[in-house]
Parts: sequence; C-alpha cells; structure tokens
Amino acid sequence: MQPVSPASPRVVNCPTCRTPVEWVAANRYRPFCSARCKGADLGAWATEKYRVEATEEPHPEDQSE
Ligand SMILES: [Zn+2]
Repeated sequence: MQPVSPASPRVVNCPTCRTPVEWVAANRYRPFCSARCKGADLGAWATEKYRVEATEEPHPEDQSE
C-alpha cells in the first residue's frame, strides 16, 4: 500500500494553455502558468466585455462559462 503524500501540491490546468500548474503560494500567477497566460486571459475578458457592450448582445446566456 502506498499512502497518498500530503505534501503533494494540488495541480490545476492553466485556463489559457492547459498546462498543468502546481497550486502553490510561490506561483503568483495561479491558476495560470505564467504572466503571459494570465495577461492573455484578462485581455480576452476585456475584449469580450467591450464587444458585448458595444454590440448590446441580446442573448446573455451565451456568456455562460
Ligand atoms: Zn498557460
């Protein structure tokens, strides 16, 4: 029997590029793998928000995650 190591950090996938990222305090960009991916995600959100506001999208259900 092999006990589960409590020291093993939780691993999540980067929302931008799907790279496995260790969820640790040292990773300031979590859940992203890097500043680039974090910035890319924020940029996408800003672009999406701007697009929706600019076009007054009549179907808000399209924004579901
Ligand atoms: Zn990434």
